[in-house]
Amino acid sequence: MSGVTNLVDGRAIAAALTEQTAASVAGLRAHGTVPGLAVLAPAADPGAAAYLRAIQRAAGRAGIDGQVHQLPRGSGAADITARLAALSADPAVHGIVCQTPLPAGVSLAGVGQAIATGKDVDGANPASLGLLATGLPGGFAPATAAAVRHILRSCDVQLRGRRAVVVGRSTVVGKPTALLLLAADATVTICHSRTPDLAAVCREADVLVVAAGRAQLIGAEHVRRGAVVIDVGTNPSAAGGLTGDVDAAAVTGIAALLSPVPGGVGPVTTAMLMRHTADAAARRPG
Ligand code: NAP
Repeated sequence: MSGVTNLVDGRAIAAALTEQTAASVAGLRAHGTVPGLAVLAPAADPGAAAYLRAIQRAAGRAGIDGQVHQLPRGSGAADITARLAALSADPAVHGIVCQTPLPAGVSLAGVGQAIATGKDVDGANPASLGLLATGLPGGFAPATAAAVRHILRSCDVQLRGRRAVVVGRSTVVGKPTALLLLAADATVTICHSRTPDLAAVCREADVLVVAAGRAQLIGAEHVRRGAVVIDVGTNPSAAGGLTGDVDAAAVTGIAALLSPVPGGVGPVTTAMLMRHTADAAARRPG
């Protein structure tokens, strides 16, 4: 017997979040603070260029001053670190994002340590993950992880006491998402490429979050009837667009709620960066 699968409307959730952020930003501006988001682009990358334009448009919609800082070709870890440190010291900058991909041999966790945690709106500094893990205030979760949490909250998905499974253990998506679900009192399992019988573990989930970067990884056999499925993956599709990690057609009729790709986590992530930037500006001393 097949059930109804509702789809998360990430664009509508993002629009509502942006509306709230714009109202907060208007209040800050009225008191003389113009929230500023600086995005450091260490390497020229065609994929990143579209994302940077999207961030600037989203900043404009929220009333945030969004600036892209493009580093010259050949910049290395020392140049990136120096620029991130300078932005951290700039009082006009409230939020900082270090765009990936980074030059070969440079890690986000390495250079991210130069971002002040109070301005680390995409959780790139390992210290931000530490704040998240300990539940201490003053940091930000990576925007994608916060977007997953926000979608679940917006859709009234109960987490307390429920089984959550996260597929993917990266520092920027899988681990922080698992920490946010844990903080919401879910019982959380994290899977990765060495997890035996992934389907059996995923079928235990009331809430399944997939962030593996493998198109069609999750099919009908991975999803318990009535589960909530959040697809974070973004993979190039044959048609030239984007496709997620979940075979949406296969899980339709099994999942109760599916956050699709495109149109799910992606737009909420961008809106969340603006929310974090406004919050960082509001928290600024004085
Ligand atoms: P990542 O660093 O490559 O991590 C992928 C994770 O998935 C790893 O932990 C890996 O396991 C696991 N994995 C890979 N293949 C698997 C398999 N067959 N079975 C189980 N686990 C598997 O990627 P990421 O940065 O976390 O990003 C994940 C996906 O989310 C990508 O598609 C990315 O484009 C997307 N993303 C979307 C947004 C958004 O806003 N929508 C933002 C960020 C990322 P191991 O650790 O064992 O290698």
